[in-house]
Amino acid sequence: MYPVKEKLYEVLHNLPQGVRLVAISKFHPEEYIMAAYEEGQRVFGESHEQELARKVQTLPSDIEWHFIGHLQTNKVKYIAPYISMIEAVDSLKLLREIEKQAAKANRMVRVLLELHIAEEATKYGLTLDACRQLLADGEWRQMTHVQICGLMMMASNIDDEAQIAQEFQTAADFFDEVKQQYFSHDDAFCERSWGMSDDYHIAVRHGSTMVRIGTTIFGPRIY
Ligand SMILES: *Cc1c(COP(=O)(O)O)cnc(C)c1O
Repeated sequence: MYPVKEKLYEVLHNLPQGVRLVAISKFHPEEYIMAAYEEGQRVFGESHEQELARKVQTLPSDIEWHFIGHLQTNKVKYIAPYISMIEAVDSLKLLREIEKQAAKANRMVRVLLELHIAEEATKYGLTLDACRQLLADGEWRQMTHVQICGLMMMASNIDDEAQIAQEFQTAADFFDEVKQQYFSHDDAFCERSWGMSDDYHIAVRHGSTMVRIGTTIFGPRIY
């Protein structure tokens, strides 16, 4: 078994105060999650609805599950009854569906808006202008079962640390912009979810409040 407990400690030791860890457990077995759980970790992230549903059934009920991957609207109904946070909202259509399904489940679902800042064309997320448009449009203000808690993004998967730092800073500056414009009186809008195994040490220097770390804690994923 991978030394999950030791690796978890290393990561937690490296995080400055005020930065929370979402342990990304996708493709890792339940026993790895339990090893981290036994050390006190309660927030885990998954990116596939069926895998998540299976794990939710067998693992402790006080785990806070974050959905971190691209979420198809037709899958929202399955996770709405229990998901703690949906991190990758990249369209108004998806936001509407979360509102609808959360209302049906009589819950409030916390969400993050996912930004597309990285250069890769394959990544999902809202461009800064699309995010501005979504917020300016204002439909989200009528939604009583979703709470927009901040922003999420992935930096480019490259070695150039200056470029990565610049992408995180762009996200941090954009957070300040929308915080001031739309959420200045909303304390719940406070999360900046950026930083993964390879770049979290950079992300925490650029305003991250939440890092999503998988490989460093659980080892390489076997797909
Ligand atoms: C898989 C994944 C991570 C974790 O990546 P690691 O490199 O294993 O730390 C973080 N964020 C998202 C959106 C992911 O899909």
